[in-house]
Amino acid sequence: MGHHQHAPSRRTLLGAAGLAGAGLLTPTGAALADEHRAALPDEHVPTRRQAQALALMSFSRINGVEVYYGTQTSPLRTWRCTPGFYDRLQAWMTTLSNWSGQAGHGAVRSIGSAGFYVNRSGQHGAGTAMDLSMVRWAGGRNSNMFNGDHASGNRTRRRRYFAVEATLRRHFRYVLDGNYNADHRNHFHADVAALPDRRLLHGSRADTVFVQAVCNNFLGSGIAIDGDWGPNTQREVTRLKNRLNVSGDLQSNRSAVNKLLKGIALHGFRDRAI
Ligand SMILES: [Zn+2]
Repeated sequence: MGHHQHAPSRRTLLGAAGLAGAGLLTPTGAALADEHRAALPDEHVPTRRQAQALALMSFSRINGVEVYYGTQTSPLRTWRCTPGFYDRLQAWMTTLSNWSGQAGHGAVRSIGSAGFYVNRSGQHGAGTAMDLSMVRWAGGRNSNMFNGDHASGNRTRRRRYFAVEATLRRHFRYVLDGNYNADHRNHFHADVAALPDRRLLHGSRADTVFVQAVCNNFLGSGIAIDGDWGPNTQREVTRLKNRLNVSGDLQSNRSAVNKLLKGIALHGFRDRAI
């Protein structure tokens, strides 16, 4: 573990075809940053033949929730992914709607994305990844990855950001956020690569920066968000588990992880300390 979490350079990305199945983290990178500055490049629009080869399906909504590009609210776009990944997106949207709804948010009105299937290597090229840049709720609330809410000066926005991340982590294997590396300061990456279950692994930089940020924003832990699961992180994660009445090993017990994620999400959407 750990090595695959190394952030690939653009050159590595472009040369990484065929490695996706080995669990190498190959998505995003500079290409997506470019996508945010301009219209979707033509090379990222799948041809009919490519879409048929991957048995991709098209969609513009997830459970009725409209999916726009970036932070736009028009026009509605057509996206592509595998049917299996779309099932996962629907399950995630149900969780996002339920947990934010329990915490007093209105219905999820729309989301913004920088891409699902795109014509390149890695999970995006397999049609099994999402980049999420915005969530909007009826009533006016939003969570804005594109603006870097993970580092917002507003704690309410920071907590909401990590609440959204908790919903993603309930359903996707790899979730990369704004603390993971510079390439993800304006979107979450979520995919279903490699390992079967969603757990919180000490050797995973992505998992570790998430729990460190949660401890700081909900417990006031004041620990470094450095991706290194050391004694300070362990002490604060133990506090977090105790406050949320979670027992079990977060590296192996998926039900414990799920309970923890729900607790984080509900407190985050409610803007409450844990
Ligand atoms: Zn991505």
